[in-house]
Amino acid sequence: MIDANYSEQTWYEATADRGAPRPSVSGKIEAQVCVVGGGLAGLTTALELARRGVSVVLLEAKRIAWGASGRNGGFVSNGFAEGMDNVAARVGLDAAKALYQLTRHGTEYVRREIAEGDPTIKMGEGWQGCIRYSNADVKKAAIAEMARNYGQEMQFLDVAETRARVNTERYFQSSYDPSAFHMHPLRYALMIAAKAEQAGARLFETSPALAVERQGSGWSLRTKGGEVRAAQVVYCVSSLDRSIHRATGRAILPVATYVAVTESLVQDVIRTRSAISDSRRAGNYYRLVEERLLWGGAITTRVSEPSRLAERMKADMLSVFPSLGNPKIDYAWAGLMGYARHFMPLIGTDGQGQWWATAFGGHGMNTTAMGGILMARAIAAKDDEYRRFTPFGPQWAGGPFGRVGVQAGYWYMQLKDRLDERRSGKAA
Ligand SMILES: Cc1cc2nc3c(=O)[nH]c(=O)nc-3n(C[C@H](O)[C@H](O)[C@H](O)COP(=O)(O)OP(=O)(O)OC[C@H]3O[C@@H](n4cnc5c(N)ncnc54)[C@H](O)[C@@H]3O)c2cc1C
Repeated sequence: MIDANYSEQTWYEATADRGAPRPSVSGKIEAQVCVVGGGLAGLTTALELARRGVSVVLLEAKRIAWGASGRNGGFVSNGFAEGMDNVAARVGLDAAKALYQLTRHGTEYVRREIAEGDPTIKMGEGWQGCIRYSNADVKKAAIAEMARNYGQEMQFLDVAETRARVNTERYFQSSYDPSAFHMHPLRYALMIAAKAEQAGARLFETSPALAVERQGSGWSLRTKGGEVRAAQVVYCVSSLDRSIHRATGRAILPVATYVAVTESLVQDVIRTRSAISDSRRAGNYYRLVEERLLWGGAITTRVSEPSRLAERMKADMLSVFPSLGNPKIDYAWAGLMGYARHFMPLIGTDGQGQWWATAFGGHGMNTTAMGGILMARAIAAKDDEYRRFTPFGPQWAGGPFGRVGVQAGYWYMQLKDRLDERRSGKAA
């Protein structure tokens, strides 16, 4: 397992109540299904299995939602990490439409669980996507295509409308997605964990699965203090463990990304409570949380936190909003995502009782819900909708060469961003 050297000092940890730690596994435990990984993919799988009457045990190596699920940007919206153009190019438009529809169910699921469980977890409605170079035609065409092909409604905002909500000369036109929202991801994950337990799932913390072996017609999962025996296993470990299940482990690349949260601000530049992102290809997504600015961005393939993270994130903020002055950064942290080479989730089975729902990349808040539901439906009801992901199977991600490729791709994207913006600056 990767020791990601994560900061535990996130704003989410400071504003959530984890309650008492859960027990670790000791002795022998039996269940129909053992889920490995207590992020949102594993938690939703466990909840949905328990709701369908399946006996389920979940093993989490550290604490529930210790990984990306408890430290992300909190944006919930339809779609995948991969753009729908590329998905359709690979599987055809009809299959792409069906996949998009599944991601929409994921978004609706999260919205409903929050509404029924604890509405205070939701922190705002809508997502404004701004472009950093002027091109109304391109923005309008992208909005029209999503409406035509996927039934995704979005509004077009011109320069004046964009800047009335996000007052910066860096931005030109934008889109507004009313079906998106944003939330407190750690409180959401803890709520899903509590619901899973109420439905009968048994959740264990500080219990990494160390090895999995065939045992009769089922599986034996060894932990430091004991063993779980189960007929079926579901791997939901993302890029945090690439050896527990080899086929998906070698197909997944860890990619780090960063979040910073300022002190409470008195400001008049961000005038919307929606989620916001800009067209920097590798990031800049942010939102107001209370009166603080939560800012996410940058990707690297290094798994440790850069020592000057807070300064770097502040420089990004000020490049968009110079009038913020010199805000104090109260929290800054890193998180690891898992990406397959095709940028799509890995969802499938080996037909021997091993299943996987992983590699949700930077778009996991809706797709982990979708993945968990697909797993539970497949295992509890032999439903085969998960097969829609068969074209996106686990392929070798290139090991260290894959990482070099990701980093080089990121630098290339940064360079393209600067060229687009410079061109726009000359045109303006
Ligand atoms: C900084 C950041 C910002 C992001 N922002 C957004 C956003 O705004 N919107 C969005 O949609 N997505 C976002 N994402 C992506 C999203 O957070 C992820 O796609 C999603 O949380 C992945 O969930 P997961 O359950 O697959 O993995 P994780 O949440 O990483 O969970 C994996 C879990 O498995 C456990 N584990 C690993 N190995 C073992 C083992 N051997 N035994 C037991 N347990 C094990 C780990 O401890 C971990 O808890 C962001 C990600 C990051 C890092």
